Amino acid sequence: MFKGILIEKDDAGYRATLRDIDEAQLPDGDVTVRVSHSTLNYKDGLAITGRGPVVRKFPMVPGVDLVGTVEETTHPENRVGDAVVLNGWGVGEGHWGGLAQKARLKGDWLVPLPKQFSPQQAMAIGTAGYTAMLCVLALERHGVTPDKGEILVTGAAGGVGSVAVAVLSKLGYTVVGVSGRSEESDYLKRLGATEVLDRAAFSSPGKPLARERWAGAVDVVGSHTLANVCASAKYRGVVTACGLAGGMDFPSTVAPFILRGVTLAGVDSVMCPRPDRLVAWQRLATDLDLAKLGLITHEIGLAEAIPVASQLLDGKVRGRVVVDVNR
Ligand code: NDP
Repeated sequence: MFKGILIEKDDAGYRATLRDIDEAQLPDGDVTVRVSHSTLNYKDGLAITGRGPVVRKFPMVPGVDLVGTVEETTHPENRVGDAVVLNGWGVGEGHWGGLAQKARLKGDWLVPLPKQFSPQQAMAIGTAGYTAMLCVLALERHGVTPDKGEILVTGAAGGVGSVAVAVLSKLGYTVVGVSGRSEESDYLKRLGATEVLDRAAFSSPGKPLARERWAGAVDVVGSHTLANVCASAKYRGVVTACGLAGGMDFPSTVAPFILRGVTLAGVDSVMCPRPDRLVAWQRLATDLDLAKLGLITHEIGLAEAIPVASQLLDGKVRGRVVVDVNR
């Protein structure tokens, strides 16, 4: 038996509870991992609370991220005792995930734990941090360099936003954060933001084109915020879109794209090919200041993940949450 969060949906309703689970119930897979830590991402919040249709099969163990040690394996590239990390691949949505003491997975989904990180640090990064790095890589791929101008990060006090601010400032970019929490301005400045703007300035319908300001942007909010960020991007600016914390719609016009040559670059972490994941983790090992990662993170036990999931969706959690699945 092992402890895990189990999401069930039946006549009694939708619920997530901490349970003792029989190992025989683990799904198919060629690697069994003894999990040490997981984390809470926005998607885990949606899964645990049922506020978004994330879970595709019931019962489900949530948790799109995990770190742990290989306990059993028939996969050629994973040996017993290897320290491994998993992010995405539909885990915690369609395949049992990381918010449990054990997981059985496809070996192809696993990447080695980079030696620069402890298991806790790998989960402090998690899908949110690795997605922030995918956004930075997309900005670079489209030619955005620190000399081009300011980079805007929306949802800056959240998980993706906090890591994006920390990485971009270490790389020498001038970073401006957008946040709905004015009390987090000092925190964002400690991470490296030079200025913090109020979320309200971006969240209402705006003009097709506004004053050109951003050389690049990392947007986790979507909806009017994404439209306003595109409208205020500089000529040939690059906007990376990875989230929908403010809505899934995109009420924009083509004006920024056809008149200013703005690029809208979509970023997905879930099905991102393995070579790109390895590059992102390698870059995190060099471009994320571990002292700042400490500032971004706090740790909770497995049972606390259920109430904290609601707080995260309510925008009340700062930075990243690591879950120690053994406490
Ligand atoms: P968090 O909850 O940690 O952060 C989201 C932040 O967005 C909040 O902290 C808040 O920042 C801001 N926010 C919340 N609600 C609103 C709102 N209604 N309007 C404007 N801003 C809002 O989530 P994550 O960082 O884990 O994820 C952020 C987004 O990115 C989510 O939509 C998630 O699904 C998506 N995502 C996508 C991935 C991909 O592969 N494409 C991977 C990982 C995440 P503040 O208080 O500073 O305003």
